[in-house]
Amino acid sequence: MRSCPLCPVLSVAALVAIPAVLLIAAAPVQDAKPADKKEWGVHDMARPQPTMVETPASKAPSDAVVLFDGTNLDKWTGNGGTADWFVKDGYFEVKPGSGNIRTKDGFGSCQLHIEWMIPADRECKGQGGCNSGLFFMDRYELQILGSNPNQTYVDGMAGAMYGQHPPLVNACRPNGQWNTYDVIFHAPAFKSDGSLEKAGSMTVFFNGVLVQDNSPILGATAHAAKAKYSAHEPALPIGLQDHGDPLRFRNVWVRPLAK
Ligand code: MG
Repeated sequence: MRSCPLCPVLSVAALVAIPAVLLIAAAPVQDAKPADKKEWGVHDMARPQPTMVETPASKAPSDAVVLFDGTNLDKWTGNGGTADWFVKDGYFEVKPGSGNIRTKDGFGSCQLHIEWMIPADRECKGQGGCNSGLFFMDRYELQILGSNPNQTYVDGMAGAMYGQHPPLVNACRPNGQWNTYDVIFHAPAFKSDGSLEKAGSMTVFFNGVLVQDNSPILGATAHAAKAKYSAHEPALPIGLQDHGDPLRFRNVWVRPLAK
């Protein structure tokens, strides 16, 4: 075993530093440098601690906006003003024919978690029978589709950015089991003349497996057409698609990102 002559000294230093670290952790701070510092030194103990976030198992992080907690769709609107999809047993279900639902609040760049399931008795045939979609900013779709088993065009299967990028792998669970999407969505930016300044992107973990790796958004989702951008507001609703199939959702939360 290698000896560590400085370890006793470092241990004492660490003990002395702990109260100061706890004090800093108690207050939310940004990683802003003091005016006289050009950059932080390596292991600089004056560098502010990140904000503490509670992460209870199987629940939303403490700083997340909970969009569905198992009881109601109060954070959502639908055609005619009310999101009247079915809510039961801790999940909600598409009411076929009622139209898409969207959040009352707008979001730009964000981290989003959602769980979805195709009922066990559904028959998936291509794009039919098991289809929904998660829309960022009401226009950029991450496809939700029963894809185990079910073959369709690959830029329209589960985990695909619809019409743009297939998933890296097929991580879909069979019908009757809950799937999870964890998404980092970066909103596009537009110049004052409406032209694109920076494309948006998605990074997607599908049941914990990477399926979109910082994939660029090519424009607003379109069916059987090339996607195009058109300038829009910096924060817009998150939507879920009524494609006529009774898909189920639960545990939906979002954490807005600074940019
Ligand atoms: Mg869809």
